[in-house]
Amino acid sequence: MATIFTAWQDVQKRIAKAAAASQRESSAITLLAVSKTFPSEAIRELYSNGQRSFGENYVQELIDKHAALTDCNELIWHFIGPLQSNKTRSVAELADWVHSIDRFKIAERLSAQRPEHLAALNVCIQVNVSGEASKSGISPGECMLLATKICQLPRIKLRGLMCIPEPTQDLTQLARQFTLLRNLQNQLITAGVDLDTLSMGMSGDLETAISEGSTLVRVGTALFGARSYPNISS
Ligand SMILES: *Cc1c(COP(=O)(O)O)cnc(C)c1O
Repeated sequence: MATIFTAWQDVQKRIAKAAAASQRESSAITLLAVSKTFPSEAIRELYSNGQRSFGENYVQELIDKHAALTDCNELIWHFIGPLQSNKTRSVAELADWVHSIDRFKIAERLSAQRPEHLAALNVCIQVNVSGEASKSGISPGECMLLATKICQLPRIKLRGLMCIPEPTQDLTQLARQFTLLRNLQNQLITAGVDLDTLSMGMSGDLETAISEGSTLVRVGTALFGARSYPNISS
């Protein structure tokens, strides 16, 4: 039976192999373990083996698991889900990273609510790379202006861009969406914005994302198994 630990080793092997195929160092790619819907014990198990970065999608789960794992003091919490403005305070207080910024108002609130005793909150702008109307994320054309405005906020630090591509079996079509994000990142860097994080790739597409330059893959299912969604409120 596959344990969480062996699944974690397998994902690390996939990352190493994909990195090698692109002549990249696997140390340049962070594995974010997406633990949404799984209990804090599952996080603790991976943490005890050396995994440090964990991703949550729902504010209430972040609050509960953060409280259950206060002794894991090297744990790095990433909030990766949609964020409503009335829920920003807990995220500003508990998270180290937020990947899903797609409106200035949310960034502004996070900056204002970030406690003084903590380092600036690391954020990524989520970009809608597929153009699907239903998808969260800012449109590529609006990204530069949002980035410029976010960089002026005192208590958050813009680190890069994030995307969730439209799922497709067509690898060319998939790669094109990741390339769009990378090109956008390069445009921002050329314009003088200091960025080091390209948050792209999940359980099903991390190889393609790494070959397109991902520096952080967000992996849930391949580590923890399939999710079922009980009564979770965000
Ligand atoms: C759930 C989720 C993931 C993980 O997806 P898997 O396919 O289970 O690896 C990654 N990123 C975001 C934003 C998610 O919501």
